[in-house]
Amino acid sequence: MNNSRYIDWAQINTVFLDMDGTLMDLAFDNYFWHEYVPFIYSKNKGLDDAEAKQLLLSMYKQQRGKLNWYCTDYWSQQLDLNIKDLKCQVASRVSLFPLVNEFLLWLKSNGKRSVLLTNAHMDSVDIKMRETGIRSMFDRVITSHSYGFAKEHDEFWPLLANDENYHPQTTLLIDDNVSVLQAADRHGIKHLLSISQPDTTLPHQDTDEFHAIEGFHEIVVGLEANKD
Ligand SMILES: [Mg+2]
Repeated sequence: MNNSRYIDWAQINTVFLDMDGTLMDLAFDNYFWHEYVPFIYSKNKGLDDAEAKQLLLSMYKQQRGKLNWYCTDYWSQQLDLNIKDLKCQVASRVSLFPLVNEFLLWLKSNGKRSVLLTNAHMDSVDIKMRETGIRSMFDRVITSHSYGFAKEHDEFWPLLANDENYHPQTTLLIDDNVSVLQAADRHGIKHLLSISQPDTTLPHQDTDEFHAIEGFHEIVVGLEANKD
């Protein structure tokens, strides 16, 4: 079995994978929420761009870490905008990290169950799956909206355990969000990895006690050789 420095794959049956900042560059989401939405909002409301940015930033801060933060319906209502349509307008900016296809294919051919586990709203998941074409590579796609709690929250994990058959000891979670990894740790998920640079336009992040990978080649030796 293909072991790397960080993962003994013989011990892993299930792999939970976050989407934004883990499989896909968070630069899209940061651009969308911090540039594109304020730009459209400022035009609609007759504000200048800086004013709109400041106003939206304070609204975002109040919801960060809550399920609303990830909810396109919530923001459509709050901002009087069609967030789904706006995302579609800039969807060509969505980009997978290197070797994601190869990594997902490797998981499949090595009999690992791979589950996309995201806080993103299903509208966003649909747009990103369409743009990247990776939906069929997962055994299952789960968004925390179906449980009513974001992954950061303790309530999320028992609901997941009821819904998805996995053993915490043989499960790997890869997620760029340290709060999510801490919650998973509290609920017994044994193998936890973070991402060192979720947004390629920003500096590397501090991931506290969790090891952060630079890319999927670090956890599957020879992954590049599987490239078409
Ligand atoms: Mg993420």
